[in-house]
Amino acid sequence: MEGLRRRSGGALRSVAAGLLAALLALSGAAAQELSGLARLMPDGSSIGARGWSGVSVELQLSQPVPWRVRVMDGPPRLVMDFREVEFGPVEDLARDTDRVTAVRAGSFRLGWSRLVLELARPMVVESADMRTSDGARIAIRLRKADEAEFAARAAAPEPPGWALPKAADLPRPVQGAGPLTVVLDPGHGGIDPGAERGGVSEASLMLTLSRELKEALVRDGTFRVAVTRAEDVFVPLEDRITLAREAGGQVFVSLHADAIAEGEAVGATLYTLAEEASDAAAAALAERHDRDDLLAGIDLTGHDDLVAGVLMDLARTETGPRNERLALALEAAIKRRQIAMHRHPRQAAGFSVLKSPDMPSILVETGFMSSDADLARLRDPGWRARMVIALVEGLKVWAREDAALKDMLRR
Ligand SMILES: [Zn+2]
Repeated sequence: MEGLRRRSGGALRSVAAGLLAALLALSGAAAQELSGLARLMPDGSSIGARGWSGVSVELQLSQPVPWRVRVMDGPPRLVMDFREVEFGPVEDLARDTDRVTAVRAGSFRLGWSRLVLELARPMVVESADMRTSDGARIAIRLRKADEAEFAARAAAPEPPGWALPKAADLPRPVQGAGPLTVVLDPGHGGIDPGAERGGVSEASLMLTLSRELKEALVRDGTFRVAVTRAEDVFVPLEDRITLAREAGGQVFVSLHADAIAEGEAVGATLYTLAEEASDAAAAALAERHDRDDLLAGIDLTGHDDLVAGVLMDLARTETGPRNERLALALEAAIKRRQIAMHRHPRQAAGFSVLKSPDMPSILVETGFMSSDADLARLRDPGWRARMVIALVEGLKVWAREDAALKDMLRR
């Protein structure tokens, strides 16, 4: 225990050093005229092996911005946050090294950008600095670390004032006048584009669909509507549930259009929560969504266990049957509008985003971006309009049934 405490003391000092680097960068930024968004210049940037076991990160930015760097565990990652940087493609930055297994960048919160390097083994930051003469040049040196040192660094708290704002703290307007509050959850966003095909991302397609569905629900008059994201920003899965609850949500609809690597799947699928996935594909899909959160730099340690215990029981007995009726009502409405569904239209898996114990929740896989036909449909405003009508109708049927059943139970 003593040893551990000493080590975390060391970690705190190194965080303080990191904070200093960030503050220097801040004063550098203040000293210069800020013009537009900082950009990453791919020509002057590279990520490569250093010495026998280290990694060197060189980033050339068009202008200085406040930034900070830290490591996170599970898997080991280097996470860099910047006051808005336009990154462009970053996959090719890590050249000629197997010490960095994945690079991902994008918007994390409004006003914040994140760059994440997945590391093949535990490493810690040996030095990090930004020189601000010609634009801004960031140099980070990583060195190999043993498990204990890495764990202590990864567990270091955020320096005061540098913690990112929680997505849940951002204001979420609820629109509409109906009695029932629907929370729409367009999947992915920001640093996590979701499935990508033909220059389109799942994140952007679902944002469009969510906007269209929101308008239709508000217009209908039966619903108030809140959304977990209204822009291309990253919202962690756990925050999506928090946001839904804070908006007073009574039903949660998550919108997705994933891709599969093998086989030919087409059509819409409705997913409800279950501990046991209905098949291997459903399990893989749920796992991939949690993995997207990890790659974006979210700390999932422990949170899932918490939800999994008591809450899962509650979800099963109370909300489970309501989820089932929601899925049935949506399935009937989608079929009535003659929209193609998957050959197993209703499935179940352990999606984190569906784990509200007291709010009926459903995940709509609107189609498969891996299918040419589905992708064309998803991009077609006419098809989306039919899907929107079907979802509105299905939600209304479910809401009526749900209210009637509640009345019966009360008598
Ligand atoms: Zn998805």
